[in-house]
Amino acid sequence: MGVFEMVSADGYEQVDFWFDKPTGLKAIIAIHSTTLGPALGGVRMWPYKSEEEALTDVLRLAKGMTYKAAAAGLNLGGGKAVIIGDPKQQKSEALLRAFGRAVESLHGRYITAEDMGTNIWDMDHISVETRYVTGLLASKGGSGDPSPVTAYGVYTGLKACCKEVFGDASLNGKTVAIQGTGSVGYNLAKHVYKEGGRVVATDVSGENLERVVRDFNVETVKPEDIYGVDCEIFAPCAVGAVINDQTINRLKCKIIAGAANNQLEHERHGDLLHQKGILYAPDFVINAGGLLNVYEELHGYNRERAMQKVGQLFQAITSIVQMSRRENIPTYQAANHVAEDRIRLIREVSRTYLKRN
Ligand code: NAD
Repeated sequence: MGVFEMVSADGYEQVDFWFDKPTGLKAIIAIHSTTLGPALGGVRMWPYKSEEEALTDVLRLAKGMTYKAAAAGLNLGGGKAVIIGDPKQQKSEALLRAFGRAVESLHGRYITAEDMGTNIWDMDHISVETRYVTGLLASKGGSGDPSPVTAYGVYTGLKACCKEVFGDASLNGKTVAIQGTGSVGYNLAKHVYKEGGRVVATDVSGENLERVVRDFNVETVKPEDIYGVDCEIFAPCAVGAVINDQTINRLKCKIIAGAANNQLEHERHGDLLHQKGILYAPDFVINAGGLLNVYEELHGYNRERAMQKVGQLFQAITSIVQMSRRENIPTYQAANHVAEDRIRLIREVSRTYLKRN
């Protein structure tokens, strides 16, 4: 498929290719939509095997950000950037600053942040060249590590799902199976533990698993056994595509609610969960805490206000679950409808003329 065909298929507004010979920067910035506001999305640095693979990834991720921001009720559009290269070998101050200048030249249509292969220190270099960067160090007025905020959002979403399924939002006495006890999984385990829930966890990293066992007394299982844990809630907090043909019939949970991106291998797995009566909290809604957190940076960061906004994910998840029931559609479809309806309506609002100086 040609580049313009790929770009027009899902209605992207703008895709920019950046090359800077002295630093070796090869970057693509994709802006999917700015209907609701500037397109905010992280910059991923990855050794893509081909330029086509990089383009496919950035387009998919940018569109995902449009939906995430829209469903979270933020005045943000969707965008994303990728830098082609190995972050361990090719990342340098100069390359990051060259990328920062590319971002600045878009005059705020795109705002960057960290993603896979980039970190808070990289954002510091980028910020020398552009105002349009978030996810900065707390000492520089930024929001710092987003994981505790994301975890709080997931915890809030878990409670909303419990309210819908069991008629009671409390996690006391409920079993939560957490897959992945990294930054988000660790903090989620803490919330569940504090509320009197039972946590069964797994991780491929012994070190990360030991930490949650030590701090929150969790029970552990082997990575492959997490799907069959007898529990109320399964919380994927590691990698994507974990709801697939191999795992779906092993699940004993009533709810799937976790931080990982793209949990459904294919949409049809979301249809299957709906048929089986397992409530799936759409990942891009329940894990929006990190985005809500960096969004707050645009208005002068305040952790308390960010947490308060993230707490509103309870209502966002509740509305989606209720729409799914009312219309007898899978929750992932309900979440897409919420995002698409909001974008359509706000586009309509923008049609009347306003004189601006
Ligand atoms: P992380 O890298 O800190 O933790 C991931 C953990 O999962 C690690 O401990 C890793 O060893 C473990 N893991 C990897 N593969 C596994 C497997 N097959 N089985 C069991 N454990 C496995 O990442 P994180 O920041 O905690 O993020 C977790 C997920 O949530 C990711 O998918 C991420 O994209 C998503 N997410 C994170 C944030 C955030 O604010 N950090 C925001 C939105 C979405």
